[in-house]
Amino acid sequence: MPWKLQTEFTFDSAHIITGYDGPCGRLHGHTYRVRLELTSERLRPSAHVQRDIMVADFKTLKWAKKDVAQGGLDHAYLNEHPDLGDDTTAEVIAAYLHRETLRRVRESLSPGDGGEDLRLKVSLWETPDSCCEYWE
Ligand SMILES: [Zn+2]
Repeated sequence: MPWKLQTEFTFDSAHIITGYDGPCGRLHGHTYRVRLELTSERLRPSAHVQRDIMVADFKTLKWAKKDVAQGGLDHAYLNEHPDLGDDTTAEVIAAYLHRETLRRVRESLSPGDGGEDLRLKVSLWETPDSCCEYWE
């Protein structure tokens, strides 16, 4: 894969690990840190430029940084998020970020381009020293 985009951002959200026997079972919040790594075999146009000069728009990758009222995950109560359900471990959130980010990137591609060569790796820090990685 000759190209790799890498971007990082944070979002602040509250959650509860339902049924957890300990402090994670009480309502609390995190500043989640996200790193996205997207590799591609070729360059493409984007929604904002028609020449083949991009892997993807960074703006498309950073959707989750937006406020929950604008479709992101910032200042959300994650357990009430319709796409997450009640289990909001770092593992479940990382898998959701992977699925939804790839869906948005593929949706932004030109008609007929399925983006089959795109590979995404998500790293999600729940605390500064604890991280979950998800990729396929
Ligand atoms: Zn937590």
